[in-house]
Amino acid sequence: MASRPGFPARIDLGPAPATPRGARAGAPVREGTIPGGVGLESSAIRHRMVMKLAAQGVSDPKLLEAMATVERHRFVDSALVNQAYEDTSLPIGLGQTISKPNVVARMIELLLGGRRDSNGRLGRVLEIGTGCGYQAAVLSRLCTEVYSIERLRGLHDKARDNLRPFRLANVHLLFGDGMAGFAKGAPYAGIIAAAGGESVPQAWMDQLAIGGRIVAPTQTANGQQALVVLERTQHELKQTVLEAVHFVPLKSGIA
Ligand code: SAH
Repeated sequence: MASRPGFPARIDLGPAPATPRGARAGAPVREGTIPGGVGLESSAIRHRMVMKLAAQGVSDPKLLEAMATVERHRFVDSALVNQAYEDTSLPIGLGQTISKPNVVARMIELLLGGRRDSNGRLGRVLEIGTGCGYQAAVLSRLCTEVYSIERLRGLHDKARDNLRPFRLANVHLLFGDGMAGFAKGAPYAGIIAAAGGESVPQAWMDQLAIGGRIVAPTQTANGQQALVVLERTQHELKQTVLEAVHFVPLKSGIA
């Protein structure tokens, strides 16, 4: 695998990481706060977030490692940095939000249920709704290629700025209407939507590989939004409707 400057090569999920540089040894790290100051590490807080995710039922070791590695605080505005590892959604500008870590992990775990290669990686994945780029960064550690499409120019640009320092060679940011999917990258081993529509667009189903999965918040018969998983087998698309969720709307066109 190509080296990716900016990411630690390996994350140990065993004992909590050592006291962050600059913090007093033994001093408690307050829940949900980043040890202040440039150059201080937030890995202890991410480690705690991951422990919480595991307690909530997220069990895929590679996913937990990815969540422990990607620095979520680098994707939110500086005023919100202290909340970056709380289990809460946060505004990312233009009326959009970054999902709670718990929801990000849940959806990716559902996606990973699809067919993986011998290294445990998913193949090409399409993400609808790049937003600030956080989920794309997590996906980059779990999939061979990530195509992420965003319909708002301001957020597409923001995600590019946020992701630049990580130099993720397998993340491809696209500006456009994700309702049409992205045919050039198809077929996909997984398609994950970060915005909820009235139904799953036909284009996504057409661009899904056999053995692949779509995970998308979608309106159900009672008018509420729920997580929907579509799995393509040789002969059919199998649909499973899971728990209720609250995502920003999937909109057509670009802006
Ligand atoms: N995964 C993101 C969350 C983004 S919120 C993150 O980690 O930050 C959902 C995003 O979906 C919003 O930015 C919204 O503009 C975008 N979106 C909504 N409809 C879309 C469409 N048809 N195509 C592409 N992006 C869309």
